[in-house]
Amino acid sequence: MTSKILHRNVVIVGSGPAGLTAAIYAARADLHPLLIEGPQPGGQLTITTEVENYPGFSKGIQGPELMDEFREQALRFGTEFLVTWIKEVDLSHRPFTLYTDDHIIKTRTLIIASGASARWLGIPGEAPAPQGLGGLGVSACATCDGFFFKGKYIIVVGGGDTAMEEANFLTRYASRVTVVHRRDKLRASKIMQEKAFKNPKIDFIWNADVTEILGTQETGVTGVRLHDTVTGEERELACEGVFVAIGHKPNTDMFRGQLEMDEVGYLITAGRTMATEIPGVFACGDVQDSFYRQAVSAAGTGCMAAIDAERFLDNLPVEMPNGEEATRDGEIITADKESIIRPDGEVIPNKPEEQDGHPGYFQ
Ligand code: NDP
Repeated sequence: MTSKILHRNVVIVGSGPAGLTAAIYAARADLHPLLIEGPQPGGQLTITTEVENYPGFSKGIQGPELMDEFREQALRFGTEFLVTWIKEVDLSHRPFTLYTDDHIIKTRTLIIASGASARWLGIPGEAPAPQGLGGLGVSACATCDGFFFKGKYIIVVGGGDTAMEEANFLTRYASRVTVVHRRDKLRASKIMQEKAFKNPKIDFIWNADVTEILGTQETGVTGVRLHDTVTGEERELACEGVFVAIGHKPNTDMFRGQLEMDEVGYLITAGRTMATEIPGVFACGDVQDSFYRQAVSAAGTGCMAAIDAERFLDNLPVEMPNGEEATRDGEIITADKESIIRPDGEVIPNKPEEQDGHPGYFQ
């Protein structure tokens, strides 16, 4: 089958809060963005229940409903949606090219908002309901779901900073939190470990794998099955909630080798803008943020990425991670802002030209 070729100013990859906010801004700027929805339209919020910390919803809102609102708003200003799987990208020159089963998409700017996915254990009982108990006591986000565990006994699986942070946060609500870790040493930073060790509501089970989450659709989570990695002993532990905190994986495999990433795979963006090191490619939301990971911070960076793309298309300079600024025409302003490097390599001073002897009259 022949592929349909599309040409666009702005293509956004991802339909969570970052991607849809970028779409709202780009569409309102008349850039007619094309938004590619991946395998989980709406992103991580579509697998949570009530969202109580998104500003503007004083009574809270269901995650899927919130994302429907985002989508409607993006649609209202003319965002074009395409549900497809991107097989390959070529960022070696502009326009950038995205390949899907049915399309070859050429774009002058690309906004990557493909998010991150919580890593799961892959054990029985963990899948979202009704297949498993996901949403019925199994979660991977304490900030999202902790509130629903008031007075309950919870286990947190993992030994890294995320697990310590989740465990500490959950003690605000839970009666007790047990961290179950597969080794006898934590991976978490010393300061996070100490905080957890000092917290009287947190205890630890060492050298244990969680092999099954127990419960029914009616009861929710009632316990876990543990396997002792030293003695091989199997046992059940009664609990009312399970938080899986074994890390996140940014959805960046398709950009590997083309964009700078940290060791986990998060994209590197400039401090002040959402630019990557390739002029015209921007990243926003969880795909470039391993630290805050909130819907509202993702939406904020989506707005910034769209404004950056708009500036870039207007041929205004946009700051890149190394402090240089790039324009659409391939000019680079050096990090010290002293010089402009033209596409042919010529270096000129970065000073407004004086005209007709009138200092202060700039073109
Ligand atoms: P990490 O990769 O650091 O830790 C993951 C933990 O989960 C490890 O203890 C690992 O065990 C365990 N784990 C992994 N897979 C499994 C499995 N299949 N079964 C059981 N246990 C498993 O991820 P984090 O999300 O904790 O941290 C990611 C990065 O984000 C780090 O750089 C961290 O410092 C940073 N971060 C910083 C925070 C802060 O400063 N406030 C908060 C949260 C994260 P093992 O140790 O045996 O490998």
